[in-house]
Amino acid sequence: MKIAQRMSAMKPSATIGMKVKADELKKQGKSVLSFAVGEPDFPTPDNVIEAAKAAMDRGETKYTAGSGTTELKEAICAATQRDLGLQYSPSQVVVSNGAKHSLMNIAQVMCDPGDEVIIIAPYWVTYPEQVTFTGANPVVVETHASDDFQPDLSAVRSAVTGRTVSIILNSPSNPTGCVYEREVIEGIAEIAVEHDLAIISDEIYKHIIFDGAEHVSPATLGDEVKERTILVDGVAKTYAMTGWRIGWMIGPETFVKRAGALQEQATACPNSIAQAATVEALNGPQDSVEEMRAEFERRRDFVVERLREIPGVTCATPRGAFYAFPDISEHYGRTLGGREITGSLEMSEYLLEEALISLVPGSAFGADDYIRLSFATSMEDIDGGLSRFKAALE
Ligand code: PMP
Ligand code: GLU
Repeated sequence: MKIAQRMSAMKPSATIGMKVKADELKKQGKSVLSFAVGEPDFPTPDNVIEAAKAAMDRGETKYTAGSGTTELKEAICAATQRDLGLQYSPSQVVVSNGAKHSLMNIAQVMCDPGDEVIIIAPYWVTYPEQVTFTGANPVVVETHASDDFQPDLSAVRSAVTGRTVSIILNSPSNPTGCVYEREVIEGIAEIAVEHDLAIISDEIYKHIIFDGAEHVSPATLGDEVKERTILVDGVAKTYAMTGWRIGWMIGPETFVKRAGALQEQATACPNSIAQAATVEALNGPQDSVEEMRAEFERRRDFVVERLREIPGVTCATPRGAFYAFPDISEHYGRTLGGREITGSLEMSEYLLEEALISLVPGSAFGADDYIRLSFATSMEDIDGGLSRFKAALE
């Protein structure tokens, strides 16, 4: 059967792939400890579950407006006002089947073949794939552990060409846990204004921040920046709602309307019950958000300390999200378990098959010297997994 040319570069998701591999080994009875996927291990809060049940009982089981219900859009606007002090109207919101879907909609609405989108590396696996799918080209700007993965403004500036249409920001970052400094966001916003670029700001981890670090959304830097910024967020990480599949974009009405039209043709609307549950997640009590954040911080401390005890492993301190991104490249060139470790892929295969721990190779994030470990899992598993990791490298 014919397969479209534009599919030729599309790779399956490495993060989802590693999760599935680990699940398969578990089914075979192997005691795999999985640190692969970025998915809170906590249950969805009870009030959210109850709201979903109540929505079903009320018969809210039909199609909704394509871009989401008015109630949910209003709740998203209220939450954005509460969290960022920003005013938006419901007509500036499109609710989708997860933030990943929102990002795909944005890429489709924004990019023409030959356009360029600046992506900061290490990047979340999905950004370059979505950009490439439109025929546009990702232009990667590297960051370094020695700078705590803060982007260098002159490197960003030199990545801009006449074809650049936008820059994707992700702070707190998946996979590095870097929280961009205010000056960095301000500098990038200045470049965007100067060159008339859109800023796609993926803030899905904005509530998971450690050490009192400050989350700065570019949209808060004045109207000139807000008007060119599209905020992306969702409930997956903040409310432990990965499987409910609700995310959204907020931005200029003219752009967002087009995304709504695209979505209506692609999937009619997001799930009606999950939308009702999200209204409760956003409007209801927020205590569980802080409880989960505090627990992630406790785990972060533990993970970083334990990683740094492993010879040949260095790790920058993540200030947000729930990933550690250690540099393991000192171990490259070794032969472990009968195989030569030439990079992060071989290392992750070795660790999965021999040590029964599943992690995502840094190569998937454009940084082969590293491996990503999600600490959105129990302390007990983290403890056991890091002992296995250490033993496997010794
Ligand atoms: N952005 C980043 C940086 C992520 O890590 C994820 C993880 N899934 C998403 C977006 C997408 O989230 P969602 O589950 O809402 O699609
Ligand atoms: N964002 C999470 C991760 O990076 C979930 C998996 C995915 O959506 O790719 O692991």
